[in-house]
Amino acid sequence: MNPYKDFDNYLKEFPTKDGYFGEYGGSFQADELKPAFREATDAYEAICHSAQFINELRRIRKEFQGRPTPVYHCERLSKLFGNCQIYLKREDLNHTGAHKLNHCMGEGLLAKYMGKKKLIAETGAGQHGVALATAAAYFGLECDIYMGEVDIAKQHPNVIRMKMLGANVIPVTHGLKTLKEAVDAAFEAYLKEYDHAIYCIGTCVGPHPFPMMVRDFQSVIGIEAREQFIAMTGLLPDAVCACVGGGSNSLGMFTPFLADPVEIYGVEPLGRGPAVGDHAATMTYGTKGILHGFESYVLQDEKGEPLPVYSIASGLDYPGVGPEHAYLKDAGRTKYETVTDEEAMEAFFLLCRYEGIIPAIESSHALAYAIRYAKEKQFGSILVCLSGRGDKDIDYVFENYGTGEKFLAKYEK
Ligand SMILES: *Cc1c(COP(=O)(O)O)cnc(C)c1O
Repeated sequence: MNPYKDFDNYLKEFPTKDGYFGEYGGSFQADELKPAFREATDAYEAICHSAQFINELRRIRKEFQGRPTPVYHCERLSKLFGNCQIYLKREDLNHTGAHKLNHCMGEGLLAKYMGKKKLIAETGAGQHGVALATAAAYFGLECDIYMGEVDIAKQHPNVIRMKMLGANVIPVTHGLKTLKEAVDAAFEAYLKEYDHAIYCIGTCVGPHPFPMMVRDFQSVIGIEAREQFIAMTGLLPDAVCACVGGGSNSLGMFTPFLADPVEIYGVEPLGRGPAVGDHAATMTYGTKGILHGFESYVLQDEKGEPLPVYSIASGLDYPGVGPEHAYLKDAGRTKYETVTDEEAMEAFFLLCRYEGIIPAIESSHALAYAIRYAKEKQFGSILVCLSGRGDKDIDYVFENYGTGEKFLAKYEK
């Protein structure tokens, strides 16, 4: 008996026409912005099923992005913890070094089909900005990236990358000068320019159609991984896991497994611990609320203002989460676990030393949970979405943790 047969028709039913996953999702924004989001929804629904669009995206994925990315069996790492086998889906080998390009190329292709000339987005740490600037260069589109002045100072290498790729990096100088203000600025620009530009969100959040569209484009991760895993082992994995920031690499990984008898774990950053301001574990500690135009779980105070969040992984420190995660959690289909900064860093160094792979700190959270799972279960298999490579993190890691001897000492024989 398959306990998850209810999910056989899930993709046909969710989201609804108005972008709802159960009671979550929707589209909450100023009336003036509604026509812009309506236009994007109509265009996506009209274009995404056409053979021409699908074939072109398929060709881009193969020839430009280097897909399919491999599934890899971590034999040496698995052996450290007993008999449970850890496998990685290697999104770190996707062009630009992370999964974000999967939806940016989809959004860029959609823009081209819609006859748009420009891509607009905000970026925090700069990862989404770099992926989108890459897509804009590929399609010959202009690219305006809004970025808080504080983040521009902190993320110098990504600012240079975006400029090399031809994007305009537009400093946002009001308020706290970080991601939240950058989102506001990008929405404002979209309102003024949507006759010739499209807004491209960085993860599975925002008003409809973005949570659906990004999920669809990212599902290539799970579709490939499921096929590859079965081809390698003849079986389904017992569990899959992925780190959850806004929720795009995780939903990309999870969606094709929803109707399978496979346990699904989203892994959230517990940072320095469970006190307010020390973590960004929205699914674990959040409550129902509205943020950035959609309803979901939110880390918020009694007045509905977003709480401060923190994680060592800048790609995970967001006080909201994609609405589909909220639905899947309430439906009991997905579970959420937390991993601290320290646990993530131990996983980071173990993957470096035992497998020759330097992972992103974000992805190290997913790996840390897989290690916990392997230690507890002692049999079966877990497939981890390794969402990105760690090149962007090595200076910070080296400065703060050296080469990780404090974590590795207990594993030396
Ligand atoms: C941005 C990022 C994440 C978090 O984003 P999701 O939308 O939750 O996937 C995770 N890993 C890497 C490498 C990232 O760049």
